[in-house]
Amino acid sequence: MAIIRCVVVRQHGGFDQLLLEERPLPTPAPGQVRVRVAAIGLNHLDTWVRRGVPGHEFPLPLITSSDGAGVVDALGAGVNGVKEGDEVVILPGVSCGICEACQNGVDQLCRHYHILGESCDGTAAEAVCVPAANVAPKPKNLTMPEAACVGLVFLTAWNMLVRRAELRAGETVLVHAGLSGVGAAAVQIANLLGARVIATAGGARKCELVRQLPAWQVIDYVAKDWVAEVRALTGKAGVDVVFEHTGQATFAGSLKSLARGGRVVTCGATTGGNVAISLHAVFFKSLSILGSTMGSKGDLRQILRLFDQGRLRPLLDRALPLAQVGEAHRALEERTALGKLVLTP
Ligand SMILES: [Zn+2]
Repeated sequence: MAIIRCVVVRQHGGFDQLLLEERPLPTPAPGQVRVRVAAIGLNHLDTWVRRGVPGHEFPLPLITSSDGAGVVDALGAGVNGVKEGDEVVILPGVSCGICEACQNGVDQLCRHYHILGESCDGTAAEAVCVPAANVAPKPKNLTMPEAACVGLVFLTAWNMLVRRAELRAGETVLVHAGLSGVGAAAVQIANLLGARVIATAGGARKCELVRQLPAWQVIDYVAKDWVAEVRALTGKAGVDVVFEHTGQATFAGSLKSLARGGRVVTCGATTGGNVAISLHAVFFKSLSILGSTMGSKGDLRQILRLFDQGRLRPLLDRALPLAQVGEAHRALEERTALGKLVLTP
């Protein structure tokens, strides 16, 4: 195959801006490997890249998507530790590898950091070339579509709960939208850490699926006042940590739901990023507001090992053919998926 198909955004807009294009089969540069992509994991980030973000410039045209799994089929010069035929997961964060941040194991803080499909070409293609540092062995018990669901959301949730909020056994955490990509990852990671999980979800079906992850309590935010519910469930004390990714619609309630000394950690603002904060609450209750983006490649390798051990599991809704990328974006935006969406080239 000398020609590959890929999903390209040339200008921001609706679903019709997701173009299926053909490109020459890429050749791996020194230090890179080429992966024959078997499954492409979609994230909310994909929809932002398509729609555009006010005040932010994406380097268009761009091949979309950050996650993928497949088989290594060519090696660039000087690559060690990876061989042709290896089944791999593609790690979404590309960094220089030599700066202080990279060498401190916080490569997401590298000044030359790129997220595949966001600031450099991504995984939505039949074949991609990435640095050898950006592939890790596929967990044996996962299918390719399952393996393609893991990277970005589990890494994001892990960095938020483990590295930033330092969630501990016995603490209680509130996870917003527990069936979303990052939400479902957060519920599972919090369980692994020995914390008690209160999650929210919209509608009875989603609530039932979150309960099975499992979560200690699930609040249907459509039917109930979740702030009052959290207060009642914690005996008016509040939770130790709130896992935030929705922003404007929930942030004031998230701060209100925190116990004294509580931490809110945020990785996103899908409903808007401008929120009002009462500083009185922040200092009187000794609250911490923590930001987080992505996480280190080393942590993602550890996460994949936990999948290999069967201690975490992917939540796959369905795999769609590459040509149905528009339909997949619609399902993401309308929040109709019950788990992650994957494209198969
Ligand atoms: Zn670096």
